[in-house]
Amino acid sequence: MNQDDRCPFCEIAQEPAHQRIVSQNNYAFLIRDGNPISAGHSLIIPKRHIGSFFKTSEGEKHCILELLEQAKIQLDREFQPATYNIGINDGPAAGQTVPHMHIHVVPRYEDDEQESKGGMRCVVPTTVD
Ligand code: AMP
Ligand code: ZN
Repeated sequence: MNQDDRCPFCEIAQEPAHQRIVSQNNYAFLIRDGNPISAGHSLIIPKRHIGSFFKTSEGEKHCILELLEQAKIQLDREFQPATYNIGINDGPAAGQTVPHMHIHVVPRYEDDEQESKGGMRCVVPTTVD
């Protein structure tokens, strides 16, 4: 990342009382996505600036999964979704636009898309023979 490019997630991480932070623990925090694709769309983000899930430490993995469990409890209570898509765009070729690793937690609602059989298959428009 260019020095002139400010990382939006580091800016939030550096302010522990940031209004966007819904919950946090030692190594990660949870926010609502600023441009949600469903009601309650949230992001789990390590406090350290790393680009890929595969660079997280064991401690970070533990904290990220702890927040995932907490996010489900909070989102179930507030939005009562039917279920969730949970995913990582791990690198630009996979669609990552913010170069600071994050897990999308996307609440899903009955009939919120016309073709409900897509799921992760919709991520890549073509299939391999
Ligand atoms: P990705 O394309 O996987 O890198 O996702 C980046 C996500 O971060 C998008 O869903 C954006 O809406 C979200 N986003 C970017 N900047 C912010 C911000 N400052 N606060 C909250 N969400 C953000
Ligand atoms: Zn960052």
